[in-house]
Amino acid sequence: MTHILALDQGTTSSRAILFNAQGHSVRTAQSEFKQIFPQPGWVEHDALEIWQTQLRVLKDVLTPAGATDSVAAIAITNQRETTVLWDRTTGLPLANAIVWQDRRTVEHCDALRQQGHQAFIQDKTGLVLDAYFSGTKLAWLLDNIPGARTRAERGELAFGTIDSWLVWNLTKGQAHITDPSNASRTLLFNLHTLAWDDELLALLRIPRSVLPTVVPSSGIVAHTDPSLFGRAIPIASMIGDQQAATFGQACFEPGMAKNTYGTGCFMLLNTGHQPVVSQNKLLTTVGWQRLEASATPPAQSQQTDASQAKSAQHSGALATTYCLEASVFMGGATIQWLRDGLNIISSAAEVEALAASVPDVADTYLVPAFTGLGAPIWDGNARGTLIGMTRGTTKAHIARAALEAIALQVADVFAAMAKDSGIALAELRVDGGASNNDLLMQIQADFLGVPVVRPNVTETTALGAAYLAGLAVGLWSSTKDIATQWSVDRRFEPAMAAAARQAKLARWHQALERAKGWAN
Ligand code: ADP
Repeated sequence: MTHILALDQGTTSSRAILFNAQGHSVRTAQSEFKQIFPQPGWVEHDALEIWQTQLRVLKDVLTPAGATDSVAAIAITNQRETTVLWDRTTGLPLANAIVWQDRRTVEHCDALRQQGHQAFIQDKTGLVLDAYFSGTKLAWLLDNIPGARTRAERGELAFGTIDSWLVWNLTKGQAHITDPSNASRTLLFNLHTLAWDDELLALLRIPRSVLPTVVPSSGIVAHTDPSLFGRAIPIASMIGDQQAATFGQACFEPGMAKNTYGTGCFMLLNTGHQPVVSQNKLLTTVGWQRLEASATPPAQSQQTDASQAKSAQHSGALATTYCLEASVFMGGATIQWLRDGLNIISSAAEVEALAASVPDVADTYLVPAFTGLGAPIWDGNARGTLIGMTRGTTKAHIARAALEAIALQVADVFAAMAKDSGIALAELRVDGGASNNDLLMQIQADFLGVPVVRPNVTETTALGAAYLAGLAVGLWSSTKDIATQWSVDRRFEPAMAAAARQAKLARWHQALERAKGWAN
């Protein structure tokens, strides 16, 4: 048994990837599923379709003779925050899953903020009070599905994020569990006690009976029902997608950070075994929880539901690694806008040559606040701004300004992380579609003043989950083992003088000011 079967349940597709002991993917299958938009601002998924597509791709990668026998364990990583409520007896969802992007609970969040609960919630959960997270979505389901609240109080219903939902189905209802990386995105989980929090449950009116048991992110936490794959396969990791990518980037030590350049950008910084409270509007979140041979975890981590789970098969102490997290809404999507909105390129990859055809932006700045600005500004009323144009401005300048805009937003978030953590970050590890753009990566290194490092394997999300499962079943012996597998494709060294960098950032901040509050 030499392989790990990773499930990567994303927002638009379900994927299954079989990894070998070298951390290479040997077989992949993928299936897209429906995006449901019942009203403006609402986004739903059919939870049964999520399960069916996931099972189909799992079976696809296991088709070759002997494949199932080679699987040492299953690893699960998932779109985060998306909320499912199902019937414990029939296993059927009561409604479509409410997706992380769904904004239907904005008013509930506004009301809680007006009642003065923001600081209390941030202290306990590390999160900002926002419709993004699961708690108000679950409250909405309980309040809006006829009879749901009463049934929940009678213990008939189960809540879960997608990790829980998949495990429930993989075990045919034997396990109702989640891990701290997913739990820490619900607004219901206390980052300090690492347990569901009664005060938060009372505030959001969530009955405890619907909640899954919290188990470690790495460890044999359940087995698949034998009817599915012909034998019971251990499920040995569960972890949210961005935290998985951080693990897949081998960011094992405090001060190590990764940024994913997808539609948006997601930066996570490992801050070690204690949560760091943000003063700069970043999120504090659990990275992962696992047995570490030499770690001295905080005492309270011994009191979690997790420590009662029958996962511990090795000696060692259960340790929780925390992260600071920031998201930039418009990352690669800025390049999509050049392609689909302005039509100045016909593919995303073309932006590189167009931007490289001019030596600089000629003082043109694009602030891609198309959907407001996220961390560290959080201005929902900011709007896109293109400023500094003269008669000499061309589409090449705009293309270059778009690349710079991605890098400048990431630089702001990177600075906020350094400030919050007090850690001088030595480099930034990168992945995601737009990290293939060499010019963007060079600009990024210039604006950060530290090297940007792109690994050979950029499939970091599924790989991170696979590593956590492989550690639990002994396919890898330690994170040191894994760190030697992580290898560099290219390292971009900063080539900009510090004074020029500061001037660049200052000019960008002037442009940002022009974009703020426009929709007020
Ligand atoms: P997601 O997982 O969010 O769908 P991906 O990691 O697949 O995102 O990356 C796709 C995004 O990256 C798109 O927004 C696309 O515009 C952008 N992108 C892809 N290739 C390039 C490139 N060479 N230069 C800049 N942006 C790119």
